Amino acid sequence: MLTPSQTTEAAERLGSGIGEISDYREASRPGWTRDVFSEAYRESRQWTLQRMSDAGLEVHTDDAGNIVGRLPGMNPNAPALVTGSHTDTVDGGGRFDGIVGVLGGIEAGRQLRESGTSLGRDLLVVDFFGEESNPYGLSCLGSRAAAGELSTGDLDRADYRGVSLGESYSRFGLDPAATLGSHWARSIPLHAFLELHIEQGPTLEQRELPLGIVTGIAGIQRLLAVFTGSPDHAGTRPMTDRADAMVAAAEAVLAVRREGCGAPNHGVATTTRLESESRSPNVVPSLVRMTSEVRSVDADWLSGAKGRLAEEIRDQARQHGVDVDFTWSTDNEVVQTHTGVHDTAARVADTLGIPWMPIPSGATHDAVHMATLAPMGMIFIPSKAGKSHCPEEWTDFTDVATGVTALTQTLIALDHTELPRHV
Ligand SMILES: [Zn+2]
Repeated sequence: MLTPSQTTEAAERLGSGIGEISDYREASRPGWTRDVFSEAYRESRQWTLQRMSDAGLEVHTDDAGNIVGRLPGMNPNAPALVTGSHTDTVDGGGRFDGIVGVLGGIEAGRQLRESGTSLGRDLLVVDFFGEESNPYGLSCLGSRAAAGELSTGDLDRADYRGVSLGESYSRFGLDPAATLGSHWARSIPLHAFLELHIEQGPTLEQRELPLGIVTGIAGIQRLLAVFTGSPDHAGTRPMTDRADAMVAAAEAVLAVRREGCGAPNHGVATTTRLESESRSPNVVPSLVRMTSEVRSVDADWLSGAKGRLAEEIRDQARQHGVDVDFTWSTDNEVVQTHTGVHDTAARVADTLGIPWMPIPSGATHDAVHMATLAPMGMIFIPSKAGKSHCPEEWTDFTDVATGVTALTQTLIALDHTELPRHV
């Protein structure tokens, strides 16, 4: 355990690390923008490699672009413990999302090494390649590849300029074919995965708690609804005799909102885009596309929401004389954290006297994909005013240090905890 002065030192080291990596950003973009495949990201990764190396970790980059720092344990053949997150950001993003999990993991490795604490197994600290959403519509590139979930079809996805994901890998110096083959399950047996992350919401701050232990990560269902009405003269067609696709879509926006408001546990529903094909200001809209998403950690509610929404939206559209077609796609299924990892983190927090609460994650994370490889857990620290994916994103460095203490001690506890699969 750290002394109070060591804790202050750790908070300062974490704070200066967060400041240093934040300097690698795309100057033409707002906030702290460091997109995957950008020059800023390429340069920042050199910094991350060096940071790992300075902490005494053995560093390499795997075929999927994940930067992996290894702290050797006593038995190199025992399944490894893994922690980590990501250092890319969204456009106009902040300085903490993902970054605290990578710098926190490095700090955990440093503290273990400097205190002479030997784990029975290797600790791997990972900076997962390209976690955030990108123009290819596929987040979590590095953890997906590690989980063996990246496909040839994914490499063919193109951005708005027609550049494929595979081509972007090549330009960045990564071999796309090798990326597909970097499935960790073939080569690296894992004991557990634990990710430290900012909450990105207001709950911990509102409850004045420094720690959340994640119960599950929300599944995401995306909806594309296409409303087809009738194009008519907006000046002459009577109000009682219209098939206005925009009005039907507007009703649907409210139906999506009502569904989210009615969720019994954590559930949210958002319409993010409404596009009308009508270019003229004097034509009744006849074709409108609506993009919405529904998220929850409650798999039953989430699947029920799809049926309820389809019924309500179709009913209301019919009343407006409008047809509607639905296309649902699953971004990711609900993933529960492993009970053994969750309970170990909870026990550690209690022992350390760190107040905590169980908390669902409404955002998706690399942990979703790592859960296919190993028992998975997550630790959250507070986000000031619940702000995230914006320049105002902030977490006090003392809170980051508390999160790192919980992370380090939980990793030590997990090292000798049996974690049965399928719990
Ligand atoms: Zn993140």
